[in-house]
Amino acid sequence: MTVATLDTFPAGLLAAPLFDRSAEDPINFGTLGSVAEHEVTHGFDSMGRKYDASGNLRDWWTPDDAQRYEQRSKYLVDQYSSYVAAEDIKVNGKLTLSENFADGAGAKLAFRAFKDRTHSNSPKSSSFFSRMPLGIAPTLLLNT
Ligand SMILES: [Zn+2]
Repeated sequence: MTVATLDTFPAGLLAAPLFDRSAEDPINFGTLGSVAEHEVTHGFDSMGRKYDASGNLRDWWTPDDAQRYEQRSKYLVDQYSSYVAAEDIKVNGKLTLSENFADGAGAKLAFRAFKDRTHSNSPKSSSFFSRMPLGIAPTLLLNT
């Protein structure tokens, strides 16, 4: 999927496997929530910078914004460039930067949204963490 906003979010994504009305909240936040937040994140990355709030083709980043993005994104470029995609072919972290950024930010934002919902004592999420293997839930909570 390329650049999208929530007003162009395909309704077909609101079905299995990304959304299951009978599933517990952690499942839906982890699947559909991550995808939705992934798309929202694109509105603020190197692709989204090219379109203003009205959808017009206009770069709204300042030169300082662009410089800081370049500096900070080097770590993500390096991380993904160290991954092997298949056999001896490595990922080109510079080419995949926008997707890598959106994947990580999307998961993080979806988890925050899930935690906000959990604090409202949703009955559909109360037992999920108790069934996780020990260590996973605390790791998730510490990395958000
Ligand atoms: Zn994407």
